[in-house]
Amino acid sequence: MSAPRPQHAPLLQFDVEDDCLQIGGMPLTRLAERVGSTPFYAYDRARLTERVALLRRHLPPEVHLHYAMKANPMPAVVQHMAGLVDGLDIASGGEMRVALDTPMDPGLVSFAGPGKSDTDLSCAIAAGVVLNMESAAEMERIAAIGARLRLRPKVAVRVNPDFELKSSGMKMGGGPKQFGVDAELVPAMLARIGELALAFQGFHIYSGSQNLKAESIQEAHEKTFALAIRLAAHAPSPVLTLNIGGGFGIPYFPGEQRLDLAAVGANLALLLPDVKKALPQAQVVIELGRYLVAEAGIYVSRVIERKSSRGQVYLVTDGGLHHHLAASGNFGQVIRKNYPVAIGNKMAGAARENVSVVGPLCTPLDLLADKMDLAHAEPGDLVVVFQSGAYGLTASPVAFLSHPMAAEVLV
Ligand SMILES: *Cc1c(COP(=O)(O)O)cnc(C)c1O
Repeated sequence: MSAPRPQHAPLLQFDVEDDCLQIGGMPLTRLAERVGSTPFYAYDRARLTERVALLRRHLPPEVHLHYAMKANPMPAVVQHMAGLVDGLDIASGGEMRVALDTPMDPGLVSFAGPGKSDTDLSCAIAAGVVLNMESAAEMERIAAIGARLRLRPKVAVRVNPDFELKSSGMKMGGGPKQFGVDAELVPAMLARIGELALAFQGFHIYSGSQNLKAESIQEAHEKTFALAIRLAAHAPSPVLTLNIGGGFGIPYFPGEQRLDLAAVGANLALLLPDVKKALPQAQVVIELGRYLVAEAGIYVSRVIERKSSRGQVYLVTDGGLHHHLAASGNFGQVIRKNYPVAIGNKMAGAARENVSVVGPLCTPLDLLADKMDLAHAEPGDLVVVFQSGAYGLTASPVAFLSHPMAAEVLV
């Protein structure tokens, strides 16, 4: 007997009525008419609101929640999120402009990322945005611009920790990295901050992304707090903000299980009293991108034609990797696996078949589903890629092959 094939984690966020996916309070077929063109991304605002509420239920109430905009910088999404979270994290001048259009207090917007230009820095300083400094050279540029503007820039030190986040989809700390200041160099930098006209805010310690293992995140939290407390001894003034990163993952591929958020929250509640004792003025912040928005979004394309080649059926659609690189398997995956995909207007379907879903690009990489069991589909039917609210359109090579841009709607 062979082992059962691993399945996608159940997707419970959207209702199905008359075999049609419902999103934003209407059937997908009607939404497609409302949008007026395929392909499109749709993000469900009620699901975004629910996700923030889920985090609030499980995380200790004193922990602040920030939205890391690069996961989904659509202005309407950012506006909605700004009304729900305690701060926004940005990683470019373009994201800063969108963040500053929201009602969020600029002092609760923090700007991380290597290679900030002098213009990025002066805009942020003029706005009162907190700069998460990625190097000592950046610190000196910030101080010089602050002096020119006669403003005292708000700064935090992004630390490249001396540990790694285990089982992380993408490691962004530990070992040599372009991100942050190596932990062993931070004491000297803190001494220099004390000499410069900078308003020290605290630390930013981000170690990775897309982690589904509560134990790994818990271990990273313990090490992060220990590191911050150790470094705070060298700080020129009390730590006001301690951003411990995020990295909470969501299930994309067959066999993946949901993150045990309750366990992560309970562990944080155990750790916080000691942090409070050591850093009494520190506001602990968790920054999340993907976990907040990914499950609220779908990517929808229309079947143009059915094609059969040597026994394999292909559904050729008007959407593909130019809009959704991650679903094609080309955004950091080592072995290509299928995202959860369905025929949105035939969720169960009268008949099922094994098909591959491809896009219109002249490259074999343009694959949205490889030999999946889907409802039998005809031209005009709507193919839905789930878990698509993060790292979708803006993480894709939209100019490749000169096809039209996908629409985006918040519903
Ligand atoms: C990308 C990024 C995030 C968001 O990561 P997710 O995995 O989407 O939660 C948060 N903080 C920083 C510094 C980042 O670069």
